[in-house]
Amino acid sequence: MVEAPLFDRVAIIGAGLIGSSIARAARETGAARSLVLYDRSEDVREEASRLGLGEVAGTLEAVCRDADCVILCVPVGAVEETAAAIAPYLKPGAILTDVGSVKESPLNAMKAHCPASVHLIPGHPIAGTEKSGPAAGFATLFQNTWHILTPLPDENEAYRGAVDRLASFWEALGSRVEIMDAARHDRVLAITSHLPHLIAYNIVSTAYDMESVGEGEVVKYSAGGFRDFTRIAASDPTMWRDVFLHNKEAVLETLGRFSEDLAALQRAIRWGDGDTLMQEFARARGIRKAIIEAGQDTAETNFGRNRNGKKD
Ligand code: NAP
Repeated sequence: MVEAPLFDRVAIIGAGLIGSSIARAARETGAARSLVLYDRSEDVREEASRLGLGEVAGTLEAVCRDADCVILCVPVGAVEETAAAIAPYLKPGAILTDVGSVKESPLNAMKAHCPASVHLIPGHPIAGTEKSGPAAGFATLFQNTWHILTPLPDENEAYRGAVDRLASFWEALGSRVEIMDAARHDRVLAITSHLPHLIAYNIVSTAYDMESVGEGEVVKYSAGGFRDFTRIAASDPTMWRDVFLHNKEAVLETLGRFSEDLAALQRAIRWGDGDTLMQEFARARGIRKAIIEAGQDTAETNFGRNRNGKKD
């Protein structure tokens, strides 16, 4: 619980996994004195009400009214139209932020519409699951995770104060905040998040298409490693379509490097070059160890699953 709320009124637009998790966490920690949500879908708005996530507004005008922090939690491809639609309703001095998994393109899109009196501070919580919708969210989603803010290079004191306040809000929700340039964010996330998702989508699709492996066998023997890719590939298709369309350059560059390295492994297998394979696999094992030491994953065998693949 925080000593005093960081914002009087937080508005969340898009009441899905991330938006509903922010609402839950902000309420539990007291980071916002009051909280209001909006979603374009009436079904989602009703579900958000039923789940008791907070006050639910029926229009963009109503959700933005009196909000001192507006958080866009919509897919990256919907950021521009949402920013344009809310611009007339934003309170002077308010913060406009987002949670999009890509930063440079939404930043430019929001900048084009954000009034000069509003502090635009894009952000990205490095936290999530493969689930979507308001029921999928939970209050502890951001605990011990990173939140990257990509503020504009603005030396204005009021703007810097707004960045500090937004950082404190995310810290209250359990995150550690890092400030980064938007273009750098997109290059880093291309390799740590976007490419792994592309590989997962591709491997699942390849397995599905392979004539020699009937669907029954793919499912039956999935614990051989394939299962973990299917979890990633179960992520929301709209969200990931938008990520790839909006981080095109960085993903293509990373994919080029990946393809070269994959070709080197392919060559080592073809030529029976065990030393190369050994060297690469040992290096990868070291990286896994570093991730565990950094507290970014569990050290438990098989991610803490029991023999049936279920969490104990
Ligand atoms: P989600 O569960 O699908 O929620 C998105 C919500 O936004 C849905 O209810 C959707 O409604 C609504 N929406 C879509 N377009 C809208 C619009 N124009 N106006 C108002 N509402 C709109 O997705 P999510 O996982 O929370 O992702 C939201 C954002 O968080 C994305 O930008 C994503 O890149 C980012 N993010 C996601 C993760 C993750 O692991 N999931 C992690 C970090 C950041 P409909 O159902 O009607 O489309």
